[in-house]
Amino acid sequence: MSVRVRFAPSPTGHLHVGGARTALFNWLLARSTGGTFVLRVEDTDRDRSSEEMVEGILHGMEWLGLDWDEGPSFQSAGLERHRADALRLLDLGRAYRDFTTAEELGAIRAADPARATRYPREQADRLSPEESEARLGAAEAHAIRFRMPPGETSWEDLVHGPTRFDNDDIEDLVLLRSDGTPTYNLAVASDDAEMRISHVIRGDDHLSNTPKQILIHEALGRSIPKFAHVPMILGPDGKRLSKRHGATAVGDYEEKGILPEAMVNFLALLGWSPGTDEEVMTREELIQKFSLDRVLKKSAIFDQAKLEWLSGQHLSRLPAVDLVDRVLDELEPMHRAWARDRGPWFVGVVDLLKRRARTVGDIAAKAEMFFDSSVDPEPEAVKKHWAKDPHGAAELLSALHEAFVDVNWDAESLESTVRSLAHERGIGAGKVIHPLRVALTGQAVSPGIFEVLFFLGRELTLRRIREATAHLRGIRAPSA
Ligand code: GLU
Repeated sequence: MSVRVRFAPSPTGHLHVGGARTALFNWLLARSTGGTFVLRVEDTDRDRSSEEMVEGILHGMEWLGLDWDEGPSFQSAGLERHRADALRLLDLGRAYRDFTTAEELGAIRAADPARATRYPREQADRLSPEESEARLGAAEAHAIRFRMPPGETSWEDLVHGPTRFDNDDIEDLVLLRSDGTPTYNLAVASDDAEMRISHVIRGDDHLSNTPKQILIHEALGRSIPKFAHVPMILGPDGKRLSKRHGATAVGDYEEKGILPEAMVNFLALLGWSPGTDEEVMTREELIQKFSLDRVLKKSAIFDQAKLEWLSGQHLSRLPAVDLVDRVLDELEPMHRAWARDRGPWFVGVVDLLKRRARTVGDIAAKAEMFFDSSVDPEPEAVKKHWAKDPHGAAELLSALHEAFVDVNWDAESLESTVRSLAHERGIGAGKVIHPLRVALTGQAVSPGIFEVLFFLGRELTLRRIREATAHLRGIRAPSA
């Protein structure tokens, strides 16, 4: 049997981490088995669904690279089929018309909660077929409810193993509401059958819906898909992940400049493990390694620091040429055009910066230091490397200025120039490099100084050194 899986989001909100993880597991199963990944938008809640949310969900999936083979189809388009299924269940005696009103049922529930589970059925069974027809003919409002059979419903869950529910604990669920709209369980069972879904992979929160859907399939004589319920995602405090824990929408992470490759990797590890210590994996590696039997039963903890770390790992592995466009997008428009005109140079800058960055935004922010601008040194950096001996630092920078005027502008020559200056003065290279770094970048830490020099170019380097020297001459030396 070929694998046919689906992702069935309700467009009543953004694509959240949990939904994206469900989509990813379905996609991974499809891609690792040569199966088909279907996208079905469950828009039956017309009041809460919106076109904008649909767009957002599709965009999120595209950003993650989760391409679908069929769809998007819309659940609302299947209304007639859903109704026909309910009527067939009625014909088969597996469902009944329920004329009880919400008030009546509410009163019973308050008085005798146990009885409420079967009350609508008791009322329905009291009606003769003629009475029922007559009330139907009088267009009396009624729902269609599924008649729970006795016994139990069980299945071999691909994550949880053997799972069973006592049917007595499940109320006769509504299939069609009195306004003729199908309920979630009917629509899903009907659509899964229509789409010949082989595996239903979804969150643990749907566990209690599964016996209902299985019973509907059985009653209609249809084959039953396999089920895999993936664990909940919790925040670091062990509570169900929610907005309280920070960003939970996939789009928030796109905005933060997290790489989609890293997001996919991170989501895969929320409830699945390759069975080794390996953590950094590309989409292709995930497809190769994924299998449902490695989905864990216990809940997964959402650890944002790990996501950022993974993003850094993916950044450093991706070739700079593949990142350039994304970094350009993040730059100030003025700098964007300028950097684009200097293609190979900018690829070099990105290559240098990606090694320490966690997001594309980090690279873009750091890239600003290579653009034609003055440096505003950070107080911490000044304190650490300039303030003790401003005159000495100024003098050292002047000497560097002189040496840089006609040196060959390549990293090797620049390095030997700096080292020989330190050597001549009998000081460690660090004593030259640190004050120079503050002059060029304004910071106490930066990528390797010789590469920084190389990418800044002679003109900008000399200007920043002159500006730093002037700044240093204005600093009052400590008196002691
Ligand atoms: N539309 C449902 C949801 O967003 C998913 C239904 C399912 O996967 O069966 O929770």
